[in-house]
Amino acid sequence: MRIFKFGGASVKDADAVRNLAKVLGYTGHENTMLVVSAMGKTTNAMEAVVKAYFEDRNALKGAVQVVRDFHKPIMDDLFESQQHPVYTKIKELFAEVEGFLAWNKSPKYNFVYDQVVGYGELISTTILSAFLNEHGIENHWVDVRELIKTDTTYRDAKVDWQATQVRINEKVNTKVLNITQGFLGSDGNNFTTTLGREGSDYTAAILGYCLNATEVTIWKDVPGVLNADPRYFEDTQLLENISYREAIELAFYGASVIHPKTLQPLQRKEIPLHVKSFVNPEGAGTKVCKCDGIQPLVPCFIVKRDQILMKLSSLDFSFIVEDNISDLFKLFHEHRMKVELIQNSAISFSVCLENKFGGFPELLDKLKGRFKVVCHEGVSLYTIRHFNTQALESLQNGHEVLLEQRSKETVQLVIK
Ligand code: ADP
Ligand code: ASP
Ligand code: MG
Repeated sequence: MRIFKFGGASVKDADAVRNLAKVLGYTGHENTMLVVSAMGKTTNAMEAVVKAYFEDRNALKGAVQVVRDFHKPIMDDLFESQQHPVYTKIKELFAEVEGFLAWNKSPKYNFVYDQVVGYGELISTTILSAFLNEHGIENHWVDVRELIKTDTTYRDAKVDWQATQVRINEKVNTKVLNITQGFLGSDGNNFTTTLGREGSDYTAAILGYCLNATEVTIWKDVPGVLNADPRYFEDTQLLENISYREAIELAFYGASVIHPKTLQPLQRKEIPLHVKSFVNPEGAGTKVCKCDGIQPLVPCFIVKRDQILMKLSSLDFSFIVEDNISDLFKLFHEHRMKVELIQNSAISFSVCLENKFGGFPELLDKLKGRFKVVCHEGVSLYTIRHFNTQALESLQNGHEVLLEQRSKETVQLVIK
């Protein structure tokens, strides 16, 4: 069995959906499982629905309408008649979200978020499945929530591998083309959970692992894994082969072309991961496999924007040592901050954080009572793997470097 993952960009409009069908025509589609994201930026639009629900009920109806208005012309373009049964199915999905929002009693933001946001994927896969069936690519629509079981860490759910394996063994027909949703799972009470933003790559890996797939391919709007994000860097180079270890490092530091959780399950079973272009499916792309390092060996640049650099020093001239540091990490964890980089000296502790779930203001309040705090918000964290002098200088020149950290292969700079 092969797993193909198609992200938001590959289904962002009607032409993109038609192109996806063309890609399947090129690759063939027997014994394949498609993992599909929400169309275009739908997840952001669904997040706006949740925000409206909690912060501005008057805006709620309009926020749902934005999502409807986005999908409607895509469907009108893809299907000849508005009598097509897919219209009823999509209507039902919207009725479900609105029903949930009308009846929900839970005040828990993250729980509500997962119940709502996942409709992006349910809608996209419903449309895609109907379109492909209509065009001779027969397929089974599968609800991934019946396959992937997780804990109740809403918005960042942890997979229950054992339960997931059992479900997949029981429920997946590996002989047909299956279409399912990325990003989603369900908890013990069958409430929807999500695996974290951009989590559909990870879904592909979970399914690949449990199905002992021969390969997993993630189809992207770039030729493969490049040595830098082409949105921010010029003259990027395609990496042809990357070892699992190297890909894990790149993804961990923030090369957002692959979700960081994707690689370890595949490495465990030595399932190759291909990153290929849905614009040019004939292209070789990148192969992540059991091989050495990266080929070609060139410096790789990674940038994480919108970071917070916080420097803490004690109020009473004491050192920041084990006891304070363990307290600090407990606080970071409790406020769901993502720690990207730490550095400590005798009297200060610097940390680069990502405020992923909005807990920073509360954290800052707590810290201010105990430490002298200096904060730089909106900074960028640059990482260069396999750096050389030229690569380093290209980042240092003309920028204010707030913090630098080096190891043998990697240098990281926090830049204002
Ligand atoms: P999708 O969600 O549609 O699967 P993403 O947008 O998450 O795809 O990933 C593709 C994007 O990743 C590219 O458009 C590119 O801007 C970005 N990207 C970041 N780092 C890299 C890199 N090293 N190589 C290629 N693309 C990268
Ligand atoms: N649709 C989700 C997101 O935008 C998951 C994904 O696309 O990977 O975060
Ligand atoms: Mg994505």
